[in-house]
Amino acid sequence: VKTITFDQLKTAVENAYAACKDLQGGQNAHYIPYLANVDSGLFGISVCLPDGRVISVGDTDYRLGIESVSKVHTAILALRQQGAQSLLEKIGADATGLPFNSIFAILLENDHPSTPLVNAGAIAACSLVEPVGNAEAKWKAIVDNMTDLLGGAPQLIDELYQSESATNFQNRSIAWLLRDYDRLYDDPAMALNLYTRQCSLGVTAEQLAISAAAIAADGRNPVTGKQVFDAALAPKIVSLMATAGFYQHSGDWLYTAGLPAKTGVGGAIIGVVPGLCGLCAFAPPLDNAGNSVKAQAALKHLMNSLSLNVFSNT
Ligand code: GLU
Repeated sequence: VKTITFDQLKTAVENAYAACKDLQGGQNAHYIPYLANVDSGLFGISVCLPDGRVISVGDTDYRLGIESVSKVHTAILALRQQGAQSLLEKIGADATGLPFNSIFAILLENDHPSTPLVNAGAIAACSLVEPVGNAEAKWKAIVDNMTDLLGGAPQLIDELYQSESATNFQNRSIAWLLRDYDRLYDDPAMALNLYTRQCSLGVTAEQLAISAAAIAADGRNPVTGKQVFDAALAPKIVSLMATAGFYQHSGDWLYTAGLPAKTGVGGAIIGVVPGLCGLCAFAPPLDNAGNSVKAQAALKHLMNSLSLNVFSNT
């Protein structure tokens, strides 16, 4: 296992910020009206170490729409409640090679949603959350789990929730197709609503980096000291991130960045270097796969400058 000092990390974060700050390209998520109107100049990087120290540069206190990064948190909740084997059987852990909202993610794997980190599997994960049948108690479980991981409460961005609920036609069809294939474990409309609500939670880049550090630190939130999930689940969630965190670009991303990570169309990306740190970079403009242009560049810069790569021993 590599070691890096706090000062090395701090310098690397500052350099990555400076190198990527003026990068152009990409556009805000255009299919969710609220996100289309977010300031596209926002940019921040946070890194959290297993000892709880956090390094932040830029707009790391801004409440961004968590979007698909929330799939990681709720997959952890499903893992905690169901166990690793049951999650594998009920949802799966495969790559899809497809866009985040693809309906083919279900068809491809013989009626199987494939992974909790694409929309189909994430809606299925929301349906699995206990107690089944009780929307408010399920929502509380989702928010409580996320609060424990973030080390602070997320806040619903109501305008984002309304914006997304009014335009999520593709997700509605995914939910009903899953229901038809007996791959939903609760009411479809409820599961979809929970998924949409969790995507609309506002969190800061700093909170997201802390949650990534909780994964890097075997389930223990390094800031609060709380053991949020069993250490044996940490490699499961990291493997899901590596396999499907960047949708159809998951392989390209791993190949170039060497970092298991998860993106969201709000512009955040979290990354996990097991044992070493949790990272988050955030900037709203996205590439055509829905991944933040600047956040990708910043994380790659950081990984390269520290010679960090989870597949390398040097
Ligand atoms: N709420 C978004 C959707 O389901 C999330 C997509 C993403 O962040 O990749 O369309």
